[in-house]
Amino acid sequence: MLRTMKLSALRLLKNSGAFARVRDSRWRRQRLLILCYHGVSLEDEHEWRSKLYIPPEILRERFETLRQGGYQVLPLGEAVERLYKNELPPRSVVLTFDDGGYDFYRQASPILREFAYPATVYQTTYYSDYARPIFGVAASYLLWKRRDGLLQPSPVLGLRERMDLRSEQGRKQAVAALEQFCLHENLTGYQKNDLLERLAQLLGLDYSAFVARRLLQIMRPEEIAEMARAGFDIQLHTHRHRTPLDETLFRKEITDNRQRIVEASGRTPTHFCYPSGHYETMFVPWLEMEGIASATTCDPALASPQSHPLLLPRFVDTMMQPLYVFEAWLSGAGHLVSARRPAAAARASEQTAVS
Ligand SMILES: [Zn+2]
Repeated sequence: MLRTMKLSALRLLKNSGAFARVRDSRWRRQRLLILCYHGVSLEDEHEWRSKLYIPPEILRERFETLRQGGYQVLPLGEAVERLYKNELPPRSVVLTFDDGGYDFYRQASPILREFAYPATVYQTTYYSDYARPIFGVAASYLLWKRRDGLLQPSPVLGLRERMDLRSEQGRKQAVAALEQFCLHENLTGYQKNDLLERLAQLLGLDYSAFVARRLLQIMRPEEIAEMARAGFDIQLHTHRHRTPLDETLFRKEITDNRQRIVEASGRTPTHFCYPSGHYETMFVPWLEMEGIASATTCDPALASPQSHPLLLPRFVDTMMQPLYVFEAWLSGAGHLVSARRPAAAARASEQTAVS
């Protein structure tokens, strides 16, 4: 209901010319929109996860909208510096891509080059060394490929009962059972890959062809190196895409991630993105101790000079957003219509204010 009301409000604002007025206001000039993308489909990934994958033609359409609207796409480091000096150019935007999948290399980077837009890749690195599909998401994708059927019980996969793949719920149960089995058997990365292969066999899918197509894989070190040489900004996203609540483990995620990015790109990353947008106030001082200059969340808002640099909001753009909603966020009207202070960010700023 609320969403429908916000959408109608945005449509009205667009039709009344308010987007252009907000876009060129002093208020917008002091703010930065950081856009977040995840995957850009190699094949049909957006049909499987429409909130995570965007087809390349929609990404191109978004960039066309940026160009036509006269938006200035800045490199992240420069934009963050200028935000806090209150020296942003009008209509400033930053582009970020989470995870550093092979699809960034293959699909997003050519479109970015076509528009000559700078972009930051928040690179997770465990699966980069290992060069196999990411277990949980690959299992989910393979099951989705057989969404018309049933999965028979299989002791080697730890599946005791028949799973119904025709519903999202059934497929989720199957993935959870497989993940539980890996945890229980303490399987290594390679053993988990063998498990995926057996799952594919059971589903009647060609696993080696799936691996060769590089779906749901992270860029390999040589691909990260090539992207860095091409001018893309490779930054931190934890080694194993997780944020442990223990300080030593959390900081190890940063140091392991940093070391691999330095080895691949030849540059030291100082910007961070919370994996899956999960953050806790206790992470802020740990990031400070690691010398992190900025950290981004997935809280939808424009960043202002009052935003905490280690809790910078981002707008997650997906194919589910109509183009006028994307335009609303570029202009700033999207923020004004739906702004509410994210509870966790509010807590964090209160905490840093008293500490
Ligand atoms: Zn991520």
